Order: sequence, then C-alpha cells, then structure tokens
Amino acid sequence: MSEDIVRIFDTTLRDGEQAPGCSMTVEEKRQVARQLARLGVDVIEAGFPAASPGDWDAVRAIAEDAYDWPVAPTICGLARATRKDIEAAATALAGAPARRIHTFLATSDVHLQYKLQMTRAAVITRVHEMVGYAASFIDDVEFSPEDASRSDAGFLHDVLRAAIDAGATTINIPDTVGYTTPDEYFALIAGIRQQVVGDRDVVISTHCHDDLGLAVANSLAGVQAGARQVECTINGIGERAGNAALEEVVMALRTRRARYAADTHVRTEEIGRASRLVSRCTGVRVPPNKAIVGANAFAHEAGIHQDGMLKHRETYEIMHAEHVGLEGGRLVLGKHSGRAALRAHLATLGHALADAECDAVFAKFKEVADRKKVVDDRELEAIVAGETKRGSATFTLELVQVSCGTHAIPTATVKLRGPDERELVAAAQGDGPVDAVCLLYTSPSPRD
Ligand code: MN
Repeated sequence: MSEDIVRIFDTTLRDGEQAPGCSMTVEEKRQVARQLARLGVDVIEAGFPAASPGDWDAVRAIAEDAYDWPVAPTICGLARATRKDIEAAATALAGAPARRIHTFLATSDVHLQYKLQMTRAAVITRVHEMVGYAASFIDDVEFSPEDASRSDAGFLHDVLRAAIDAGATTINIPDTVGYTTPDEYFALIAGIRQQVVGDRDVVISTHCHDDLGLAVANSLAGVQAGARQVECTINGIGERAGNAALEEVVMALRTRRARYAADTHVRTEEIGRASRLVSRCTGVRVPPNKAIVGANAFAHEAGIHQDGMLKHRETYEIMHAEHVGLEGGRLVLGKHSGRAALRAHLATLGHALADAECDAVFAKFKEVADRKKVVDDRELEAIVAGETKRGSATFTLELVQVSCGTHAIPTATVKLRGPDERELVAAAQGDGPVDAVCLLYTSPSPRD
C-alpha cells in the first residue's frame, strides 16, 4: 500500500472557539488562522457565519486575509441545513481564494425526535435540497450527519447517498457526543466506504470528541478504515472534553507513518508556536502532561532516563522536541545535578556566571532542590536574581488590597516601590479580585 495524504481540517476557530471560556476576538482569530496556514493545515473552519454578526465578520476577515498568505488553505464556514445559514456562509466566504461550505443536519433518532421534530424522510429531502443549494454557491461542499455514531446505519447511509447525489464532495462522520470506540468507529467508516462511497471521488472525514478520552484513537481508527480527512483542533480544545488534538493526530501519523501508510501536509515545526498562540488567545492553559505540547512532554527526570538520554536519545524518545517546535530534550535539574550541569544550563538561559556567583547560585540551588523534586527554569531565574545582581527586582510590592462581595465590583489597589524609591499606586476593577490585581499587572501605567 502506497502512502496516502490525510487532509487536516482544523476547527479550532469553530468547534474549539465554541467551548466554554475559549472565545476569541476577530483579531485573535485572524492571528490563529495565519498560524494555521503556516502550520500547513488543508482546511480552516473559520467559524459559523450565521451564529452572530461577529462570527460572520471573523470568517469574512480570514477569507480576505487568505489572499496574502504564501500558501492558503481552503477556508470553510459552517451552516445548518437552511437557506439563511448557507447564504450567510457563502457571502462571508466570498473573498477566499479557496472556500468550502460545511452544512450539517442530525441523523440520530434522539435528535430527530427531540431536537428537530423531523421524520427520517424529511431529513433526506432536506439534506438533498440544502447540499444542492450550497453547491450552487461553491462547488466544495462538506456534509455532516450530526450524531452519526448514534444513528441507524441504514438510514445514515441513505442520508449520505442523498448528500453525495446533491454534490457533497466530503462526507464527515461526527462522533458528536464522544461515545464511540475505535473498533466501532472503524466499522462505521469502513461500512460507509464500501456501501456508500464505493469508487466515487468523495472524501470521508472524521470528527471525534474526547468525552471518553478516545477522540484521537477513534480518528486514527477512521484513517485505518479509509478516512482521508481528520477534523481536529490545536490543543484539543472544543465542546465539553474537546475534539481530537491536531498535534496528536499529526504526530501519530508522522511517527508511525509506516503503520498507517499515511501522512499529512503539516509542518510539524510550527506545532509549538500554534499551541502557545491558541493557549494565549483563549486563556486556556495546556496541562503539563499533555501529549506533544505539554511542558513535560519532552522532559526527562533525573536518574536512569537521564543517563539513557545522554548516552543515546532514542533510549527514551520516540520524537524530538525540535520537530514540533519546542525546546529540545529538556533535562530537568534536580538535587543530583552537578555544578557543571547547572552552569551549562544557566548559560543556555543567558546567564554566564563568574565563579563566585556560580558558588552562591549553586548553594541556593541545592537548598531548593532538596525541598522540591525538580527546579524549573523560572525558579532558576529567581535564584540567579536573588543571589547575584542580575535581573534583580526593579520594583518592590508594598501593598495589595482587594474588595469584593455579592454586591460589590471586585476592585484591587496595588502599591509598588520603584527603583528610584518612587511610590506607584493604582486601582482597577476586574471579573474577580485576582483578575483585578492582574489587570494592574498587565496594564503598566500606574499613576504616581
Ligand atoms: Mn464537534
């Protein structure tokens, strides 16, 4: 079997942005879209134009920006299977060099009965009409039967046939509620491939949620069954437990490409930057143990692992951090680390210490390392600042005062003493007391 390309359909800006606390401004979405283009994804789902005027504006802005990118992915907009939604998507996307309308309608009995109050026959008719309507604007049309994994297989096949007959070129099979298992999803995709798609030129796509922690495993099972597009998000953000994480899908395919006989167009060196950007724009932190992009994903603690790593990296590494745009094979410093290792590491952080300085820093480092399991770079920076004149604190915190309550607006007052003994006092209101303090911290214009 020759190696195939699996298209990466990124929905960070639609499914990801829909998640609680993940909303982004139009400017932030444009920045993320530009980075996704640099990363080399094939399709960017830029938003849901009919959802709000803000969403429409964001999709239009990204569609127009795409003209200036050296390599522009297809820009996609989501639309319910209604004329109004499809028109909103078509107009928002009009400026893009390559564009796709993604329309959807649920197919599971529970959605038909309680949400849509539609019969199966009516669903088939609507899908045929609306996919055809979308295809009258743009010839690249994707159709998703929402809740596909909990739908009756025979009915699902009929709906997909109607979508393909009406012009759908990609059929996406969502595990909307994150319920399926890898073997089950494999059978679902394989059945669609054999009984619906056959030798027609239609791409089967996966869209898996992580409610049971199976989103990536299910997506890869879909690829093994013949899916050639994977929908995913940076850092795995998305509704509830999130979507399949782009970085995990891409690195699984890259690291095990012989196994999957498939690869992607993604420039993996851009993964780290994409992860940090999405984390910064959404304010959602990446857990340290997160695969591929977590702070510890390439860290090796003291002991047998470090010894192995120093002798030969492949003893404990299946991937290299620099291939995903992160700092390489980090050796964590602990209480067993020696003076030379500490000094060499500090030099990489930009601190070339004199002998006397190094003695003081090393003594303090040992003291901290005895109490804590590992000493990270931020702590090292603090030790260096404390033990030498380097990077010593310019401002001293004199006072923090917050007031809040059920009927009060959280307000913080902060007093700092500057290097010239000048006092700086400022107050701010925030969503909560900590937010109010941090607003002061991030808006550096305290009044005298
Ligand atoms: Mn979803």
